[in-house]
Amino acid sequence: MKTLSELAGELNAGTTSAVALAEATLAEIEARDESIHAFLEVYDDVLAQAAHADNMRADGKATPLTGIPIVLKDNMLLSGKRVGAASKILEGYVAPYTATAVQKLQDAGAVFIGRANCDEFAMGSSTENSAYGPTKNPHDETRVPGGSSGGSAAAVAAGFVPAALGSDTGGSIRQPASFCGVVGLKPTYGSVSRNGLIAMGSSLDVIGPFAQTVDDARTLFEVIKGNDPMDSTTLPDNAYVSHERKQNLVVGVPRAFVSEGIDTAVAQAFEKTLEGLAREGHEIVDIALPYIKHALAVYYVIMPAEVSTNLSRFDGVKYGLQVAGDDLLGDYVRTRREGFGPEPRRRTLLGTYVLSAGYYDAYYGKATQVREMIRDDFSNAFKNVDVIATPTAPTPPFKIGEIADPLSMYLADIFTVPANIAGIPGISVPMPSKSALPMGIQFLAAHTREDLLFHIGEEVEALK
Ligand code: GLN
Repeated sequence: MKTLSELAGELNAGTTSAVALAEATLAEIEARDESIHAFLEVYDDVLAQAAHADNMRADGKATPLTGIPIVLKDNMLLSGKRVGAASKILEGYVAPYTATAVQKLQDAGAVFIGRANCDEFAMGSSTENSAYGPTKNPHDETRVPGGSSGGSAAAVAAGFVPAALGSDTGGSIRQPASFCGVVGLKPTYGSVSRNGLIAMGSSLDVIGPFAQTVDDARTLFEVIKGNDPMDSTTLPDNAYVSHERKQNLVVGVPRAFVSEGIDTAVAQAFEKTLEGLAREGHEIVDIALPYIKHALAVYYVIMPAEVSTNLSRFDGVKYGLQVAGDDLLGDYVRTRREGFGPEPRRRTLLGTYVLSAGYYDAYYGKATQVREMIRDDFSNAFKNVDVIATPTAPTPPFKIGEIADPLSMYLADIFTVPANIAGIPGISVPMPSKSALPMGIQFLAAHTREDLLFHIGEEVEALK
């Protein structure tokens, strides 16, 4: 599959058209997605969208995204289209408006191919929690593509589309990017509007791109970011200023954090990648992040608390599935019991518990305090280093069905959740390695310093 920038070049040169690209994309999906299952739905108006993109170009209104096929995770609203967060409770729900980030892509002339599979309400690390069955990893169909944005990552890895959108609450863009051998960017919290994103953890969620190259991820990010009056947590537009590009970067490695419980293949590829960066002139230094070891615990208190609040709106009255009970309370209970799968239920229970009057201070209150300490850890570290490097995930992609215990599954997020706790940006880039299974390296930077992530990410790409 050609990269987004290659396709944009061909569209501009007139050697292909948006309609021709869309036809080829649909044919590939038809031929190969039955087994991969990256898609929950392929839209019925793809060719009409493509014709519109070709018209935009003919009118001289083309942007770098005009005519580019893109896939949306099934938790982003596109007006008039079904959207369901891969949950039965949203069965039949049609989006009444378009998410801001999606609208920006639409205005730029992108062609939306369909809805990508994901874990139910973005809860999971393997896409096995989808109510519609798992997506398979295109590199090895016995393995998971990661999650929760597994369908988006797989659609890019399978070569169906050059780019996709995902959302990242605790790693759901970076970890599937790592498992599928593609680039995934979790932007700074508040840089991309959450308006029209089905909420999971509102203080953690952010929309971001998947692509085959760092450059393509940057192109998408530049289009989707920006202040939005519909999301009061978006940053003002002047939050991003341009920075002079340094020749060599200082890369901090939290040694104590990355040396425990990681797979040897991942550890070796990580060290090799760092050696490669050092050869190119970047300085690799060990750093300490004293509170980061508590990040997963903090995440699994704060996130379920927010989940329990956000999912309370799915009551059989306002959205999607409605199952009648004997009375109003019965309607609620039956709808939620039949509509939610095990993971949203588990997290709603946990979240309700940590927010309950008797336990609020012991759990939620405390987690909020430790969250501040983790934020401070990062602020201190970024006084001395430009970026922080860790493996994206502790293991290569695991087998479908291999991890049955939810607590073990939560460990897949150990390296990714700290960025969401602190609101800082992170990127996963495939590591050069001889292993047949993809593995990513993650870089983190200070708030709004995506430029440093793109810089170091391109250095890793150049190591190949
Ligand atoms: N895998 C993590 C979880 O299950 C992250 C999910 C996400 O980022 N949406 O919560």
